[in-house]
Amino acid sequence: MKWQGRRKSTNVNDQRGRSFGGGGRIALGGGGLGLVGIVIYLLITLMGGGNLGDVVDGAVLPPSSQQQSSQQQGTYQETQQEKELMGFLSVALADIEDTWSEILPKSEYQTAYKEPQMTIYTGQINTACGAADSGVGPFYCPGDHTIYLDLSFYNTLTKKYGAKEGDFAMVYVVAHEAGHHVQTLLGVTQQLNTLRQRVARGTMSQTEFNRYSVAFELQADYLAGVVARYMYERGYLEQGDLSEAMSAAAVVGDDAIQKRYQGYVDPDTFNHGTSAQRQEWFKRGFEAGDLSGWDTFKGL
Ligand SMILES: [Zn+2]
Repeated sequence: MKWQGRRKSTNVNDQRGRSFGGGGRIALGGGGLGLVGIVIYLLITLMGGGNLGDVVDGAVLPPSSQQQSSQQQGTYQETQQEKELMGFLSVALADIEDTWSEILPKSEYQTAYKEPQMTIYTGQINTACGAADSGVGPFYCPGDHTIYLDLSFYNTLTKKYGAKEGDFAMVYVVAHEAGHHVQTLLGVTQQLNTLRQRVARGTMSQTEFNRYSVAFELQADYLAGVVARYMYERGYLEQGDLSEAMSAAAVVGDDAIQKRYQGYVDPDTFNHGTSAQRQEWFKRGFEAGDLSGWDTFKGL
């Protein structure tokens, strides 16, 4: 990806080196009063933990209730690799903003795009969706419109899961999470939560819900493909970028994850889709370049 010298998003919050257990506390709701209030969340740890996790539950505090205190900057010493990750992901987030600011108002939904935040953290973080640690992987919290990412996920993705090395593996991940933001702006996240509540009430089986979850996640992959197309058309992609994204999409497929962690595949428990599906929907988004083919729920 060509990113040197290009615009960086101003919506990146660097929280690295801060610990919410110690002096660098990130207060929620003022003075760090009540974690009690934010326990109504469902942290969906996908694919057996430590994977591309998403918080997709919207039953959280409204964004206004979250006030991150501006404590003194931590003394985090970044590596050269992390510096580079911060650089190109900040540019990628700017591209994501440009993509959706252009597409959403022109789409049949005629929605203005509200830019999400991206918080880069190390270890643990408090969010409007509750506390999380980096073991859950990158996620988007609808309650505060923020993508949360620990940069160490790059090594997890490439070294542990075996995705092809390269910047675009991570751009795919961030564009997928930003896809959940688009889904939230367009009301899809809220619809999924309604179904989740049916599972809680016992009027929908978990297995049936999982099929909707897969459709929801594949839609985020499609939306990531739309962003990649936008970047491609402006000449920002380099040789190998798309295959890095496709490789990343493959290693986080439910079948790949289940084989890796449990040695067998159980389609009833899928919640993100197979490697082939994830690649397919990313590709469809890339080919369409808009929301025309984004209905992954068709036929459910
Ligand atoms: Zn997701």
